[in-house]
Amino acid sequence: MTQSMHRSHRVAGALVGSAVGDALGAPFEFGPPGQLTARFPVPARGARTEMCGGGSLGWAPGEFTDDTQMALLVATSLVDNAGPDLADVFARFTRWADANPPDIGNQTRAVLSSGRPWDVAAAEHFARSGHAAGNGGLMRTTPAAIWFSRAGTEATMDGARRISALTHGDPSAGEGAAILHELMRVALEGGDPLDAVEPALALVAEEHRDRWATVLDPAWTPADATESNGAVWPTLGQAMWALRTGRDFAEVLRLVVDLGGDTDTVACVAGGLAGAVFGMGGIPSRWASALHGRVPGHGEKLWRLADLQQLAAALDGAAQQSYDPGVIPRIGPAEVLPGIWAANLDGARYSEQDFAVISLCRLGEPFEHELQRMAYVADNEHNSDLDVVLADVLEDMAALRAEGHRLLVHCHGGASRTGLVLRAWLMRTEGMAADEATAHVAARWPHLGLWNASFTAALDRLAVQSPGADRP
Ligand SMILES: [Mg+2]
Repeated sequence: MTQSMHRSHRVAGALVGSAVGDALGAPFEFGPPGQLTARFPVPARGARTEMCGGGSLGWAPGEFTDDTQMALLVATSLVDNAGPDLADVFARFTRWADANPPDIGNQTRAVLSSGRPWDVAAAEHFARSGHAAGNGGLMRTTPAAIWFSRAGTEATMDGARRISALTHGDPSAGEGAAILHELMRVALEGGDPLDAVEPALALVAEEHRDRWATVLDPAWTPADATESNGAVWPTLGQAMWALRTGRDFAEVLRLVVDLGGDTDTVACVAGGLAGAVFGMGGIPSRWASALHGRVPGHGEKLWRLADLQQLAAALDGAAQQSYDPGVIPRIGPAEVLPGIWAANLDGARYSEQDFAVISLCRLGEPFEHELQRMAYVADNEHNSDLDVVLADVLEDMAALRAEGHRLLVHCHGGASRTGLVLRAWLMRTEGMAADEATAHVAARWPHLGLWNASFTAALDRLAVQSPGADRP
């Protein structure tokens, strides 16, 4: 985690991180505490990961739930309309609810199926029931938090309140969404969201401030919660407690899922914030790569990691990149090291399907391979979290090799990023020095590219950290 991390890494990390939390927590929803760690006492980096699917609703491994489905409806509405159109967001929600999504919050369903106009439905439900402080407005905030972040504190807090109020008439739920928007704005700018709590609380409507200040106090722990984490206050309180307590993205998410209860939603909120703080490269690739899901009532489009990354960039005002690698001559696969093959993008795409593919570039259309990890490395000198990504890739490779998989490492050209990982693998497994590993790979893979000085620097740091002792 560095201050110099490019904003785009944080933006992608926020949207992908929230969806990862949602999918990771979904199998454990409404369960007792401690389930994730009981089932996975150590990181599960082989073919079967902590993205295990199941639960009472029978999710597929890596499948996201209503939290992300609703977030995608907000996101696509913002992008399609180039700004907030609340009636349109509500119409998208209603179409979704009418399609009977497998998971939908009680308050959300009641409001969206009431048949009342968008601008009165939630308020009328709240006036009637007196209950509307569930976490259903908070869980879908990430896209709008990205969208409004560039407009500043007041604009983003106001936008949060208005979108929350579409389904949650209790203003306290809106204040929670407003706080979360502001914390996300600060995190996306490279600041510490923990430092942003107090100034954000000062902007909360007075009658709601104390209750929010209580759950966001640095001394608050989940044991202090006075209601279940289906309510809005402990949801944000638990997410912030995990962010204060966890050392990296994976630990933050493990902490919240292990709290039990509304695990998908609390992990979704924590994952959005942690993704903004630790960046896209801080999200374990075994989790991000498994992400997928559809949005009921809105076509058959299957949303996957690359779609979420593109959408995140669009929400932040970046030009939509339609990624088409064009026609490139196929290189590989060739076995460069024992059990480790190398290729360029097309060589990997059309390779035998039993390869476990380690992808180090954007893909355009996804591969058909069953086992694929997509790591976030750019072919330039701006990977602020290169050490973290490299460690993650090497650990996964070791676990997959231990299970007997043939590994296929590739990037777009098969030269620089592929070469980085092959060289690092040799240093790790054979205890080679960096230049020894470079010579070894160069003799067996003529496509090796050495133009990224930051990659060589990362190898030097790797040599300092694990001089051959840390063998998988
Ligand atoms: Mg859910």
